[in-house]
Formats: sequence, C-alpha cells, structure tokens
Amino acid sequence: MKVAFLDVLGHKAKLNSPGMESTSHSFVPAGLASELTIPKYKNWLAPLLGNLSFTQGVRRFLYAVRPEEASFAKLDDVPDYLNEAVPFFLGAIALEYILAFLTRLPPARLNDAFSSIAAGTLSQLSKIIILSAELALYVFIFDNFNLITLPWDYPGTWYFCFIGVDFIYYWFHRAAHEINIMWAAHQVHHSSEEYNLTTALRQSVVQNYTSAIVRSLGPLEYILNTPSHHRVHHGRNPYCIDKNYGGTLIIWDRMFGTFQAETDEEIAYGLVHPLASWDPIWTQLCHFCHIWKTFWETPGLKDKLAVLFKGPGWTPGKPRLGDPADLPEIEYPIQKYDSSLSFWGNIYVLVHFAVTIVAYQLLIARRMSMSQLHVLGVISYFLFTISSVGALFDNKWYAPYMELFRCLLFLIVDLVLSSQNLDTGVLPTAYIGVIRGIFIASAFLWIIGSLVTKSKLKIQ
Ligand SMILES: [Zn+2]
Ligand SMILES: [Zn+2]
Repeated sequence: MKVAFLDVLGHKAKLNSPGMESTSHSFVPAGLASELTIPKYKNWLAPLLGNLSFTQGVRRFLYAVRPEEASFAKLDDVPDYLNEAVPFFLGAIALEYILAFLTRLPPARLNDAFSSIAAGTLSQLSKIIILSAELALYVFIFDNFNLITLPWDYPGTWYFCFIGVDFIYYWFHRAAHEINIMWAAHQVHHSSEEYNLTTALRQSVVQNYTSAIVRSLGPLEYILNTPSHHRVHHGRNPYCIDKNYGGTLIIWDRMFGTFQAETDEEIAYGLVHPLASWDPIWTQLCHFCHIWKTFWETPGLKDKLAVLFKGPGWTPGKPRLGDPADLPEIEYPIQKYDSSLSFWGNIYVLVHFAVTIVAYQLLIARRMSMSQLHVLGVISYFLFTISSVGALFDNKWYAPYMELFRCLLFLIVDLVLSSQNLDTGVLPTAYIGVIRGIFIASAFLWIIGSLVTKSKLKIQ
C-alpha cells in the first residue's frame, strides 16, 4: 500500500547502503510515515502538531538542539523537520504580526503573506513527487562514490557536517543568483517586496531568519548571517545586488568577497523588475518564460547558452553578471504592488486558506496510505485553490467565477465521495460539517455576487 505512490515514477529505489538499512518503501522519515499513529484528534491542536510536543517544536525552531538529539542511525528515524515546523512557523508569523502591531511598525500584508505561504507549500508539494528520485540518486552516489563513512553518533561528525553543509549552501546559493536558469527557481524567494517571516517561506530553505524588527546582533554580525546581512541580500538597491549569500554563517561571504554591510540607505526589497502579481503559480513560472523568450531572441549558439548560464542581468557584450550601471536606481518613497481585497474579502480568504492548510498538513501526513489518483487529485485542487485566491487578490475579473467553480467542485466531489461512503482523507472528520457549511455559504455568496454584477452590467 505504502509503495503505491512511488510507482508514479515507475520505480522503487532500494535503500541498502550501510547506515541506511531499511525496508524498500521507507522514503518517508518516521515522523511522517506514522499516519497510523497520529492520535485521533485528542485535542484541537493534534491535527496540526502530529507527534511533536510543543516545547520540542519551539526548541527546534530556535536551533536549540543538541548533536545527540539531531543524529540518527537510520533514515527512518529522522523526523520530517520541515513539515513538523509548519504550525510553529505559522505561530511565529502570528506573533510577528502582533509585535509589529504593538510597536506600530507596518504589519505584514495579507496578499503578500498569502503569496509567500503558498510558495512554501508549493515547493514542499513538488517534493512529494521528486523526493523518491532525489533519494535514489543519493543512494546511487553513496553506493558508488562514498570515500569515508563518518561515525553517525560522534559529536565531531555533527559539527563537521554543520560547517560543511553551510559551506555548500553558500556556493549553491551563489550559483542560484549568478546562473540565470537557477535564478529562475530562486527568484521566487526574492519576489516579495516585503521582508518578514513569511518571506522565508517563499522557499524551502530554512535559514537563521528573523525579520525587520531586529536591528543588529552586535559581535555576532561578524560570524553569523544576521537579519541585517540578510536584509541586504534581499535588497534591490544597486549596492545590495549579488551580496551576502551565506546560510547560517556569514564568514563565507567575507572569505570569497561577496560581503556587504547594511548602510543608511533605505532598502527596497524584491526583484529589480518587480513582478506585480499575487498568483503563486505565475510567480514560479514567470522567469522561466522570460528565459525562454530571451533564449530564442538572442542570435548565436554561444550567446544562447550564455543566456542560460550567465547572470540574470547579462546581455551580449556585457560582463558575466551584467553591468551594475544598468541597475535602476531606487525611487523614494518606495512604491509596492498592492492590489488587495476589502475587509470581508480578506476574512473570506483567511477562512478558506485555513481549511487549505489543514488539508495540506493531513495530505503530507497520510499520503502514503492514499492512492496515487487521490493524492494527485488533492494536489490539483490545491493548485487551483491558490491560483484562484491569487486572482482574487489581483482583482482579476474572472476571479469570482473561478471561486464559484472551486466551491461547487468541492461540494460535488464531497457529495459523490460521501454517497459511496468514501473519505477524502485530507479533511478532519470532526470538522467536516463546518467545512461543508463554509463551502455552501461561499458558493451562495458568489452566485448572488455574480447576479448582482450581471444586473449592474445590464443597467449600463
Ligand atoms: Zn537568495
Ligand atoms: Zn532570504
């Protein structure tokens, strides 16, 4: 049953490497594979927290773990850190929102937060499909090119790997900025014109991340990639471009000449050419489309390849990373893309997004016991949902029709499944009545709404 979904890729990789003994199905860490042991909603937090205790989650979130807590003999024992962190991340975002309110800083914008959270869940979802291929490749490399085996339970290994991973991260991140085709994926993380905790979700890389509220961390600024350094990394001011690639440590930037300290110039966040859309799927695809277009417009094979592999700012005849003089100066006051919804529109989105997040968490937890068709169905519905909400925020004319269709589709599928006594598997049974109520009320709202607009159109 559990291997079912992996067959989407037409193979089952075997984990037979030393230290990774395991049954052939176990691509999913223990915390995840335990859909059978998830408590039957003992309390209202259980659907969100799973097996993790509250204090454990908070400590992990602050990197306050000991090597022996984070070293494992078998892959099966490794917790699913990222997905288990989701409720804590959402909690921290709420806390940041309250803090910003109390300190009278402008709070996170809902449209931007939505777009970031959607991007985070999207990159996680893509892993459901890619994970088995990625792991098969890892096992292949491990089996054929493994030079030394480090003892897994020796603290030195833990520290060595910590430094090693951070060093590799620096170069990977640098490549993600300096090679156009890699930038197409990484620009999603930089597309927000905001800088707060939700921005970190625009990508699956969990970094030592705190928001605009923290000004400086004193002497730690020399060693760690602090909020201040990472603010510079997210700036589109000319002085910020291609700087501060570090993950947890900033020493790599200091060593390899990409370090830049924050100055008094107010930082404008986001892309050099802002996106001006809240559609999470377009955010993912836009730069690939741009590369595709430039690739065919550029004459000569050598320059075509340069379009792919040189920096995103490169044009024929320019240096590898483009000419810094071509970067547009920042105009003050900083203008941000901000089409949004009314108060009730925001409440509507919050309610539907809450349902979506719970369904997403349950999908991640239970996917191994669901059929492939079922998982793909839920993922498609998820994609449609975030695209539709993006269209609402963008005030697209077709957004209300998209939403009406989405609500009706939910109700029809729900009706068909429950008439056959089947469970969707990704909705908490305890709340199913409430969720149905939400979708019925929403469908009515959109029907009435579209009738009102129609009669208005007739009058004109
Ligand atoms: Zn970056
Ligand atoms: Zn970042």
